[in-house]
Amino acid sequence: MPDHDAIIIGAGFSGLYQLHRLRELGFSARVIEAGGDVGGTWYWNRYPGARCDVESIEYSYSFDPELEQEWDWSERYASQPEILSYVQHVAQRYDLCRDITFNTRVEALDWDDEAEAWTVTTDDGASRTARCVIAATGCLSVPSTPEFEGREDFAGEQHWTSSWPHEGVDLAGKRVAVIGTGSSGLQTITAIGPVVRSLVVFQRTPSYAIPARNGPIDERLREVKARYPEFRELSRMARIGMQCGEDDANDYVDSDPETVQRELERRWLDGGLCYTQTFRDLLRDADANEAASEYLREQIRRKVDDPELADKLVPTTYPVGSKRMCVDTGYFETFNHDHVSLVDINEEPIRRITPRGIVAGDTEHQVDVIIFATGFDAMTGALNAIDIRSGGQTLREKWASGPRTYLGLMSAGFPNLFMITGPQSPSVLSNMMTSIEYHVDWVTNALQHLHDHALHRMEPDPAAEENWVNTTNDIADLTLMPTAASWYMGANIPGKKRVFMPFVGGVGTYKQVCDGIATSHYHGFELT
Ligand code: FAD
Repeated sequence: MPDHDAIIIGAGFSGLYQLHRLRELGFSARVIEAGGDVGGTWYWNRYPGARCDVESIEYSYSFDPELEQEWDWSERYASQPEILSYVQHVAQRYDLCRDITFNTRVEALDWDDEAEAWTVTTDDGASRTARCVIAATGCLSVPSTPEFEGREDFAGEQHWTSSWPHEGVDLAGKRVAVIGTGSSGLQTITAIGPVVRSLVVFQRTPSYAIPARNGPIDERLREVKARYPEFRELSRMARIGMQCGEDDANDYVDSDPETVQRELERRWLDGGLCYTQTFRDLLRDADANEAASEYLREQIRRKVDDPELADKLVPTTYPVGSKRMCVDTGYFETFNHDHVSLVDINEEPIRRITPRGIVAGDTEHQVDVIIFATGFDAMTGALNAIDIRSGGQTLREKWASGPRTYLGLMSAGFPNLFMITGPQSPSVLSNMMTSIEYHVDWVTNALQHLHDHALHRMEPDPAAEENWVNTTNDIADLTLMPTAASWYMGANIPGKKRVFMPFVGGVGTYKQVCDGIATSHYHGFELT
């Protein structure tokens, strides 16, 4: 008999909920986590200004009405410390830590076909066996660390937003460089701008950002708490796993210019990621997208005093929404201060790092601290970092030309290995809490089904997988999403195959498909 019914890799929101659900079934489960505590993303990413882009009343667990009622969020968008307190509260409330091994990294998974179990090897040299493994390893948990010549010679401090020191970093009065202007970069730049002596920002691609319009939410929280079950149900069926009033949205092609302007302004004033839901065809129709993109460009131009600088900060090379949109609180205004400057690395490429700073083009920018906000090896990075073997092949080899999954939940040839928010599921295109809970519930029900029918093994039929991979690609190709060199495409990682990885068909649609498959006796899976 294997040591455990299940081993769960990762103690972020996914792994914690998965542990809770399996315990309820009476399964023996152990979580293995590389970090020193619970929280995943919110444990690692402690950089200044780190904050959620999804509203806190949506970005929270829905599985326990008591938990929903007892936790009070203070702001529309929760900060990293507040989310981390919430995760810690959850871990304590359900006594989860007694089944978690911290500070331990899973290095290898080996499927034993005869024993019908995985051997899980960790970096402390130990190995454990389990009937199934659930990879709750996160879509954005492996940092992308581009090489910069001379980095080791830099005499000052270097920090990555994705592994920010727990004790914090004193940046007051220092000369600071930030490399990267995605979500983490934007948040960091905005937060540190007022305290540093000088700030030089190195930008490859400008981001579309929409104001957060953050603030206290006491009244709204009371109102939602009074109807949380109904509220959650709507989110589960919504396109991006949170409510954007999309039923009220029209197609751009059917809208007159006045309506277009009014709707863009309304969404702009509401703030947040729902901007991409202004028109139903915004991510499909180039004209619709251009109208929404241009509206944002105009707002950026209004915020930045220097028109030449504004031109550099305005995104022009990709459609809005085809790369992860940012939610900001004064990012563009930061550049109106004399001590803040921008280097467009397309014009002045970073040539090397010296003991004193960064050489871009012909200029050496002397700094005391360099902050790397260079993103993640998204969606496949954490799985590919593990040596996963079954039947003479590795998952890494199988996925060399891009991930191949059935429903983003399993991959053919790798029995009893489940993924939470895996590639080819909505994952990073959604409010992740909705997608995480849905996957954990689906996996839990599948394991219950196996148990109830005295079955030991589940894996996708290769034909069903092929069909799903083609379907997800076909849907993506109907949209503007694959036109951008985004991390959704793996374009930020040198050598990574460019394949659009998330399922773009919407959270509600995806749920209907997966529910249907479960109720039709797991159609497309082999259960033995
Ligand atoms: P994670 O939180 O990534 O946890 C995975 C855990 O697995 C990590 O702790 C990691 O250490 C561990 N792990 C990985 N591999 C191994 C291994 N081999 N061995 C042992 N342990 C391992 N999503 C949203 O919906 N809205 C947002 O606004 C939002 N903001 C974000 C901001 C940042 C800065 C980042 C990085 C991500 C953000 N996300 C956001 C996505 C976020 O990752 C998810 O919302 C969610 O936290 C994922 O939870 P998870 O448990 O699936 O994965």
